[in-house]
Amino acid sequence: MTTETISVNLPNQIPLTHNVDVLVAGGGPGGIGAAIGAARKGVKVLLVEHYGFLGGMATAGEVNPFMNNHHEGKPLDTGIFTEWLNRIKSYNPDGFDRIFDPHCARLAAEDLCLEAGVEILYHHRVAHVERKGSRIDHVVLHSKSGLTAVKANIIVDSTGDGDVAFLAGAPFEMGGENTPYVQPMTLCFKLKLNLSETNLNYKSAGEAFKKEYDLIQEVYQKAKVNGETDNPRENVLMFTAVNKDVLHFNTTRVIKKSSVNGIQLSEAELEARKQMREIITILRRDVPCFEKATLYSVAPQIGIRESRRILGSAYVTREDYTKGKAFPDAIARVTYPIDIHSPNGTGTEITHLPKGAWYEIPYGCIVVKGLDNLLIGSRCISVDHAVHSSMRVMPPVCSIGQAAGTAAAIAHQQNIKTSEIDGIKLNAELKSIGRNLTEYDPTREWETMEPGDWKTIGKKEKALGKFMSS
Ligand SMILES: Cc1cc2nc3c(=O)[nH]c(=O)nc-3n(C[C@H](O)[C@H](O)[C@H](O)COP(=O)(O)OP(=O)(O)OC[C@H]3O[C@@H](n4cnc5c(N)ncnc54)[C@H](O)[C@@H]3O)c2cc1C
Repeated sequence: MTTETISVNLPNQIPLTHNVDVLVAGGGPGGIGAAIGAARKGVKVLLVEHYGFLGGMATAGEVNPFMNNHHEGKPLDTGIFTEWLNRIKSYNPDGFDRIFDPHCARLAAEDLCLEAGVEILYHHRVAHVERKGSRIDHVVLHSKSGLTAVKANIIVDSTGDGDVAFLAGAPFEMGGENTPYVQPMTLCFKLKLNLSETNLNYKSAGEAFKKEYDLIQEVYQKAKVNGETDNPRENVLMFTAVNKDVLHFNTTRVIKKSSVNGIQLSEAELEARKQMREIITILRRDVPCFEKATLYSVAPQIGIRESRRILGSAYVTREDYTKGKAFPDAIARVTYPIDIHSPNGTGTEITHLPKGAWYEIPYGCIVVKGLDNLLIGSRCISVDHAVHSSMRVMPPVCSIGQAAGTAAAIAHQQNIKTSEIDGIKLNAELKSIGRNLTEYDPTREWETMEPGDWKTIGKKEKALGKFMSS
């Protein structure tokens, strides 16, 4: 690697392949919600995706399961997320509720987009943004065709990393609390246990995982002490999978690398795959239920939890989370805990809301500062590091995307700036199309709710890793 620079002569005329009402960049959970949300309002929507399939981290990152974002046992992400979940189940009726098959997730997302009238453009990546004053005039894409352009009246950035906003010069934050680093990246993979080839009497990988859980953690700790793995993670994080003989691992941990630095992202893939090889060797060697295990799948790319957080006209903080703050222009309601995998190495903070509490994301968190025709429909919204760690899970991100798509269509149809949309009316419209948002009550505070569940996970529990983390 060098630090030199070199001049280039890029073409000054490139094909303008599309002229649409709304461009959604990125087809992850946020982009799926945004594209469908906009198209259902009758506007012309183009969804541009880097891969040849939809789903983002749900498919390309093979993250699993869809975390619960529930209130009193009921899902808060009624709307496009629930439709996606139900369509996934229709492809795999034997699947568990929120544990899903990533291949079915690809098909289900594509079905819903096509049915809504979304035009999908795969294998294209946003490479450049042409800005005129406070508006994005057109977006330049890179594909096997070289450079091409798309014009759109309103753009929704659903790239996860806020690529469009960044290229347009939007302000952003990046980093954790008292650290310049964001949450670590994790390459997810799955192992097939082939239990029928062993002498063990486990009926499923889930049963084996429960019975041998302590041994798995013990051998991992020993391997760390013996220098057999460089993984800074405190434990082995595993989940059951759709296939009953398979376990899903969310346990590699690459710290202090940036997903928005191309070279560091490449290094992260290499480091994560090294950690994956190490853990497979350790488990096969030292844990009976893994003796015959084979590699079932490795995610197409390393999972990215956090990068840029694009600043908007509103900003939600850890303090707001702690107070369970509600907003009259709420676009999403969240109960999922603060879930911070240490940006610097070992440890995970899980901080739950009190029983019965929730907090909300207001419309302003997706209205990008200084740009009149750009919204964020993705994890990279205007919140601090702690709140990001909570709202980033797939169900609320899909809901935020749905709100962004709905707002983009409104801005186009009314010929107004995204900042001119009445957030209270948007909230009402989202409720009218089935989103589980409640009436705004400014007197509502979490202290008035049933106390008792307020906790930061205890040291012992943390060491054992017996909690859900994403
Ligand atoms: C390791 C890991 C484990 C997780 N575990 C869970 C879990 O168990 N449950 C849960 O609910 N959530 C989990 N999450 C969180 C969740 O997966 C993400 O926060 C969520 O997917 C974010 O959705 P998104 O649409 O904002 O971005 P993404 O899912 O990242 O999707 C972005 C999409 O945009 C595309 N894209 C990016 N840049 C460009 C570009 N320049 N041009 C065109 N396309 C582009 C990408 O290819 C991708 O398809 C996990 C995340 C990670 C990393």
